[in-house]
Amino acid sequence: MKKFGFMAVLLFVFILAFPHNGQAAAGSAKIFLDDKQLSLSGNAKVENVNGNIMIPFRVVGENLGFDVAWEQKTRTVTIKKDSKVIKLVVNQKTADVNGTKVSLNIAPILRTDTVIVPIRFVSEQMGLKVNWDNIKKIVYLYTQEIETGNGDAGTGAGNGGEATPGTGSGNGGSNTGSTSAAQVNGISFSDNRLMIATNGQAKVNAFKMSGPDRIVIDLENAKFSDSFSSSNSPLDQNSMGSLDISGYPDVSQVRYSLYNNNPSTVRVVVDLNYAKNYKLTNENGLYIVDLNTSDSGTPSKPIGGSGKKIVVIDAGHGAHDPGTTGVTGKKEKDFNLAIVLKVEKLLKQEPNIDVVLTRSDDTFLELKDRVKIANDLKADVFVSIHANSAGSSAASGSETYYQRDASKAFANVMHKYLVQATGLSDRGVRYGNFHVIRETKMPAVLLEVGYLSNKKDEATLFTESVQQRVAQGVVNGIKEYLGVQ
Ligand SMILES: [Zn+2]
Repeated sequence: MKKFGFMAVLLFVFILAFPHNGQAAAGSAKIFLDDKQLSLSGNAKVENVNGNIMIPFRVVGENLGFDVAWEQKTRTVTIKKDSKVIKLVVNQKTADVNGTKVSLNIAPILRTDTVIVPIRFVSEQMGLKVNWDNIKKIVYLYTQEIETGNGDAGTGAGNGGEATPGTGSGNGGSNTGSTSAAQVNGISFSDNRLMIATNGQAKVNAFKMSGPDRIVIDLENAKFSDSFSSSNSPLDQNSMGSLDISGYPDVSQVRYSLYNNNPSTVRVVVDLNYAKNYKLTNENGLYIVDLNTSDSGTPSKPIGGSGKKIVVIDAGHGAHDPGTTGVTGKKEKDFNLAIVLKVEKLLKQEPNIDVVLTRSDDTFLELKDRVKIANDLKADVFVSIHANSAGSSAASGSETYYQRDASKAFANVMHKYLVQATGLSDRGVRYGNFHVIRETKMPAVLLEVGYLSNKKDEATLFTESVQQRVAQGVVNGIKEYLGVQ
């Protein structure tokens, strides 16, 4: 008994101490090269060892087209492509790259039948771009960097993708003459619609690919704006990132990257759970990929179609911009997002309302892009969700802001429901010269739900049942104002 107990404790400690190793065995990660999944031969497995993605060295050779060799005596793996030679030795954290010593995050590991090597290191040394999706356990490799200019692989229909004539091409514009690249300011996903907010003229090419099913949107003559690059935490040093998507049956992931440098091309990929039609529209640089389409490709649910009201809900701040920080360190951006996601869920059940979120995850949009989304969609109302802070910890309560006279009546209705929902003190409907409610063209309000600088308010705002009530209050206010049953 005693011995067994000790072993159990030891095992428990081991599992705690090596969580990544523990997961590695069960993991069955996939590798994509230029958006095509590699089929790994035999029992070859991708492993995650302490956060490093490792693959058997032979996989590198077979699938990535490098020459590989194994020398048993020195336990050395040699990987060659063109004039580049990498030598990796089992259990050594230093590699030899064309005669130069380069340190590794992790040493190659000897497994019973192979040696596994860090894929990021090898790929990057060979000029590939690497992205690791930790949620889906997928390694994405891109050859684009070493093929600048020639081949044009991957764009257009030549790559196994079906072109979808009629969608997008007319709207995307063919202003290849313009020299300055368009800027991608924001990417978000809401109500089964992908939105890409851009400035300037991009040449857009969208197509479907299969195995696995996905929709690829290439924005040629476009790059990520500086604020997008600096603010989207998932955008790694290779200019790649992804959105957290959950609760959408059609879509497993949205990822994006600077796919090509010349011409500068931003690629956005919607990974689908099955083949799906879509409709691409462009309103002044706001591209919407609508998955609410019938099999024939016609929108089954155009935004605002059949007389539906369009409601844009804006979660303030996001990503590098946390908004205000509460007494106990809770962040305003998280509160705002929690509310808008709840509002979205409720509004989706309304048959006479279409809801669009300016952001649906921890991403950042410039104020002007939040406005642009609402104006381009010709929304009926706009609601921006925030939480407040004050120098005095005593300040407490709910406020509703309007900027234009046309928003006053809406503000009055919304405030009534807001105060009811929070149960905090009523600080009234106020004038506030905020960008998003000033520049929008429809009735627009900004709700300061409570004060995160106040201990009681903070606790209230981060209470699940209160958040649900606030969301319901927002919905009730919108419905009352719009006269929607
Ligand atoms: Zn705020």
